[in-house]
Amino acid sequence: MATISNNGTTKNKPRLDLGGYSYIKDRSSDEKTYWRCIKYSLDRCRSRLHTCILTNAIKKSPTKHTCKVDGTTLQLRIFNEHIAHRAVSTQETPDTIISNCYKATDE
Ligand SMILES: [Zn+2]
Repeated sequence: MATISNNGTTKNKPRLDLGGYSYIKDRSSDEKTYWRCIKYSLDRCRSRLHTCILTNAIKKSPTKHTCKVDGTTLQLRIFNEHIAHRAVSTQETPDTIISNCYKATDE
């Protein structure tokens, strides 16, 4: 299931999240929205997909990614969840929380 957020990027461009990858809106035609991997400039990733402009259904599945950030992004997401969890469930200071979370992700 694709999630589209209208101000999902630092440039206030629409962003689409799908399968752990993020895509930025490239352009649109009468029928389709063209998306490209958010890492297209950073990693020169050429993955693209098309969605229907009316229903946002995927018209063309994403092509192969060449970016290498997925694992890191996932790790980072888990890491942030650890921090958020500890911040609400413990009395630890932010420094302690971060060092404890580093230990937790190493294990
Ligand atoms: Zn990519």
